[in-house]
Amino acid sequence: MTAIWSVDTEKFYENAVNVAQGNQLMAVVKNNAYHYGLEFAVQQFKKVGIQTFSTTSLREAIRIRKLAPDATIFLMNAVYEFDKLRAYHIQMTLPSLDFYYEHVEDLYDIQVHLEYENLLHRSGLKSIAEMREVLIHHAQNKNEQRMIITGLWTHFGYADEFDVPDYEIERKAWLDLVDTLLTDGYQFDLIHAQNSASYYREDGVFPHHTHARVGIALYGSRPYSDV
Ligand SMILES: *Cc1c(COP(=O)(O)O)cnc(C)c1O
Repeated sequence: MTAIWSVDTEKFYENAVNVAQGNQLMAVVKNNAYHYGLEFAVQQFKKVGIQTFSTTSLREAIRIRKLAPDATIFLMNAVYEFDKLRAYHIQMTLPSLDFYYEHVEDLYDIQVHLEYENLLHRSGLKSIAEMREVLIHHAQNKNEQRMIITGLWTHFGYADEFDVPDYEIERKAWLDLVDTLLTDGYQFDLIHAQNSASYYREDGVFPHHTHARVGIALYGSRPYSDV
């Protein structure tokens, strides 16, 4: 016997409308849109008015480009296929100082988002000092062909945990960093940090942020049990 799994398109769409509530969302569509199917999910999210998408694989990012020619597409993992990033206008994370210095020339014309590592210790620039180092080095780079810094982002690893202080710690470190760089006078087209849990916990998008980067809630699941 074959199991048939069906999605009620209208319910999926209505859920996404309810989650967005008129806020600017970057829809996370990694893992084939949480197994709902990339094409289906992107089409529904577009109907909701979402124009910014994020995933972890370049292959999926390119598929999104074909489904959404005008969308902003952000790749959360760094890759080395720089020509493809340019060809499909995929924006990408800048995951470390080492990556920056190693690929400063390869990255020409590619829009990058500076990643802040924070508590999760997965990838990212490690401090305000490292952020400033990239920003200053970049500003002094007189090469006409250079990368374009469009975004600033982090990932919260603890937003769905309520009995440890980790979320408050990572939240404060991040908001301090954003504040410091904006006070320095730097500007970013996109600033995004919040996953579903943080978006619900904060009751919306942080000040100065352009998007919440929401996945699971858009697919109708609760980011933590009390929602
Ligand atoms: C998966 C993921 C998200 C979305 O998280 P949800 O809990 O599904 O909302 C956001 N940011 C990053 C870096 C992710 O890997």
